[in-house]
Amino acid sequence: MMKLNELGEFALIDRIRAQVKPGAGVLRGIGDDAAQLELPVGEQLLTSTDLLIESCHFDFAWTTPADLGHKAVAVNLSDIAAMGGTPRYLYLGLACPGSAEVSAIEAFMTEALALAEAHGVTLVGGDTCRSPGPWVVSVTVEGTAATGRAIGRDGARPGDVVVVSGSLGDSALALAQLQRGQSPAEFLARRHHRPEARVALGQALAATGCVSAMIDLSDGLSSDLGHILEASHVRARLDLAALPLSEPFTAALQADPELLELALSGGEDYELLFTLAEADLPAVLDLGRQLNLPLTPVGVIQAGEPSLLLREASGAERSCQTRGFDHFAARKQRDDA
Ligand code: ADP
Ligand code: MG
Repeated sequence: MMKLNELGEFALIDRIRAQVKPGAGVLRGIGDDAAQLELPVGEQLLTSTDLLIESCHFDFAWTTPADLGHKAVAVNLSDIAAMGGTPRYLYLGLACPGSAEVSAIEAFMTEALALAEAHGVTLVGGDTCRSPGPWVVSVTVEGTAATGRAIGRDGARPGDVVVVSGSLGDSALALAQLQRGQSPAEFLARRHHRPEARVALGQALAATGCVSAMIDLSDGLSSDLGHILEASHVRARLDLAALPLSEPFTAALQADPELLELALSGGEDYELLFTLAEADLPAVLDLGRQLNLPLTPVGVIQAGEPSLLLREASGAERSCQTRGFDHFAARKQRDDA
């Protein structure tokens, strides 16, 4: 088994470069000082970066390097999907300890590149360093959207319906089970380790021109909806009974009703959450059927200061905290303790 410090930085970059197929629009990719890329005429550039740090965002106790490669790319594609864009180019910053197995890095790269390629996205650059400790993976994706068609977080209007794709809480439930030493059902484990970026849905929604605001669910429904509310200066009411739940999630919920909290505030579902006028809802729900992806209305936007109301199945209403996971706040609590 070869270690990274035996292979060396340049040999690793050469191996990565050898795995990348020529991509559309790439005039210069890996190997020069900067990537030189062609962008489609009439489109605007969308760029997003995500950092993944070992022991903070993932743990090799239950995440394989292959899962990590998939996820690192998927979460970035999801950000472009959330703008209604087409992902095109990828950059990878990789810091690994010298003791890392080359085979682990190759497994990571193989999955990362397979997912990128499946979406027509080309790896065009990055940086590689030795880490004194944890793995650090930084992925940047560039995409494009037709001029003026990208969808932000700031357009939700009173009266709009709030819609979510797929099902909620599966990934957080899988993680909770893994952390307790249990092994999640295959469906749940897949939702956690191999999230699917809703790229086709995002593009289709942007093409309709009727989506007023959109975000992808990385931190959890309540907190990500909170970002839309803050940016759009509106409030919202969510219907708890309407939240779309998978069969395995529902089964677990029957044993432990408290798990509903995971559907509301658990992270890493990477579904799309968006708002639109009620009149446009039937056409958009049709779109979901065409893409074979359930779309579920879960609430409404109301005029008022940014805040979130929850309506229970009984009809009772209560307010809900929209603040999601904050890396520094979580750390401060530990440091202060
Ligand atoms: P520089 O010294 O100019 O930063 P490097 O030697 O770091 O150049 O990188 C050489 C080439 O390899 C550049 O094109 C860079 O974008 C690419 N590269 C480096 N690391 C990675 C990586 N982990 N994934 C993809 N491309 C990479
Ligand atoms: Mg460099």
